[in-house]
This record gives sequence, structure tokens and C-alpha cells, in this order.
Amino acid sequence: MFEDNYRQRGLRNKLVGMLRKKGISDERVLAAIGKVPRHFFFDDALLEHAYQDKAFPIGEGQTISQPYTVAFQTEKLRVQPGDRVLEVGTGSGYQACVLLEMGAKVFTIEYNRKLYEKVRKFLPEIGYRPTFFLGDGSKGLPSRAPFDKILVTAGAPVVPQALIDQLAEGGILVIPVGDRSRQEMVVIEKKGGKLTETRYDAFAFVPLLGAEGWTR
Ligand code: SAM
Repeated sequence: MFEDNYRQRGLRNKLVGMLRKKGISDERVLAAIGKVPRHFFFDDALLEHAYQDKAFPIGEGQTISQPYTVAFQTEKLRVQPGDRVLEVGTGSGYQACVLLEMGAKVFTIEYNRKLYEKVRKFLPEIGYRPTFFLGDGSKGLPSRAPFDKILVTAGAPVVPQALIDQLAEGGILVIPVGDRSRQEMVVIEKKGGKLTETRYDAFAFVPLLGAEGWTR
């Protein structure tokens, strides 16, 4: 049922080449993207779309993020094998698979019940097993904190304090922050109890909802 043959692998290698040209240089990130069969997340007829560098609708008004954005966020997260990573916004589950391929222990939380039900059934079917949660990830996941890395895959109005609080010493938080249509990628590092912040232009995510996100 899930076929990954030379044709799909060829398209995926091309995508990896495209990402390299666009400036992604972490070979571990590129290798992970080279492994995850992105076309499994698409209908058969959409194979060509699966390996273009663009976001795509996954239902419920949500999207599977653009591969460049997945690669950029993952690179900034500097994932090490064994890291405990919280992903806010499971969506299709594609990003979680990339993190798993990098050897992380992945906790992923989704706000939309339909997407949550779908993804927690689908991902194990294709061999990926993060720990799934349904809830408001703008409040983090206090029961499993602290995290070495936190990745937010929806656009936030501000950096939620709960996420900073749940970051371990030496941890990194990557989160798009801005208005509803355009965001900067904010990278926050916690070292010696102090925070350093770096910002990168310019991204367009669907809104982060919830207590510390946007109202509907
Ligand atoms: N990481 C996803 C992937 O790989 O397909 C893409 C995520 S999509 C751009 C953003 C997701 O964030 C949507 O599925 C949306 O329902 C979810 N979301 C929005 N607000 C949320 C919140 N407060 N907590 C958890 N998930 C949230």
C-alpha cells in the first residue's frame, strides 16, 4: 500500500538538492528529509506535489509545512540523538517524522481533534512513533517538561512564557512570531538561566490558537 520505489526516492533526492541550494547545510537534517517518504502524506495522484518545495493543505484549514521551512526550523533546533523534543502543532505528522529520523524522543501536541485522531493512527502505520497529545500546546506540556528542544509549527502573536519555562538548561526554542499572515522565526537559547534571542525573516504559518495564541 505504501510504496517507496526509485521514482519517489529520485524525487526526494532532488528535493534534498533543492534545499541544499536554498542554504540548508546541516547534513543530518538533509539526511532525515531524504529518508521520510513525504508522498505517504499525500494522495497517490499528488506524487509530484509531495516533492515540490511548497506547503500543502491537509484538511481542517491546516497545512503540511513547506519542506524548506521544516528543514530551516529543524536546523535551528540543533537536534542531538536522545534529545527530548516537544513539537507544538502535529498537523500531518511529517515534521515529527523528521525529528524521529534524527534520533530525538518526540512529544507532539495537536489542538484539532480530527487531525490528532488521524495522525496518531497514520504515523505508526508508516513506522513512526512519537508520543501524541491532544491539547493546547501554547501552554506547552507541563506533565512531560523539561524539554531539550521545543519547536512550534504555527504562528504565535508572542512567545508563550510557558514554553520558555519548560525549556531545559541549554535548551533551544524555535517559534514563528508575528501577525496572522507573516512571522519572523525566533530562536531562543537558555544558557546559565539567561536567554539569548535570534530572529530570521520571513515566514507564513497558520495561526497558533489557544490560551497564549490567537483567538479564532
Ligand atoms: N508540523 C506540521 C506538519 O509537519 O505537518 C505542520 C503544522 S500546521 C502548519 C500547524 C498546526 O498547528 C495545525 O495542525 C494546527 O491545528 C496546530 N495548532 C494550532 N494551534 C495549536 C495549539 N495551541 N496547540 C497545538 N497545536 C496547534
